[in-house]
Amino acid sequence: MSSKIQQTIVTLDLEGVLVPEIWIAFAEKTGIEQLKLTTRDIPDYDELMSGRLAILAENALKLADIQEVIGALEPLEGARAFLDELRSITQVVILSDTFEEFAAPLMRQLAWPTLLCHRLEIDGEGRVANYRLRQPDQKRRAVAAFQGLNYKVIAAGDSYNDTTMLGEADTGFLFRAPGNVRAEFPQFKSATEYDGLMALIRGELES
Ligand SMILES: [Mg+2]
Repeated sequence: MSSKIQQTIVTLDLEGVLVPEIWIAFAEKTGIEQLKLTTRDIPDYDELMSGRLAILAENALKLADIQEVIGALEPLEGARAFLDELRSITQVVILSDTFEEFAAPLMRQLAWPTLLCHRLEIDGEGRVANYRLRQPDQKRRAVAAFQGLNYKVIAAGDSYNDTTMLGEADTGFLFRAPGNVRAEFPQFKSATEYDGLMALIRGELES
């Protein structure tokens, strides 16, 4: 590889790309149907999260209980091998709108890649008291910051909350995105399998 080629960071979304949607999987494991609501049902994120935290409290679920349930979840099939291969050829940073405490049991199964996300507030009894978004539009701002460090950024994600990240990146790819997202953002090439995404990324690394 020529030393003239600019160094690269790949930024990946987490849920829907490497692991299942954590709240939906958590709802299925616990049988708490109301936890299946997403931003598609309740567009106001603060309202949605406040509702989720109230449900956790009503069900007396402490962080340790939640982490135990999440620990029984697994990364998507093939995700670990894809990520291991990708980390052997370039730098990878996961940009997610989840919380460190919820992601931890899944990150362990992915060999602890770098994750930039948000954090929960845990009270003295181990209950989830609140949540704290580190900064708004953090995925896009992370990409812009990496570019400020003279990295070329290749980004991949599956949903609306990834599109500002994909747009900011030098190249953005959709992975397993629903049809409406693909239709609305035709400027981003799309892949549905890890082999296909790896081929798109390798093509960018070599260009
Ligand atoms: Mg996602």
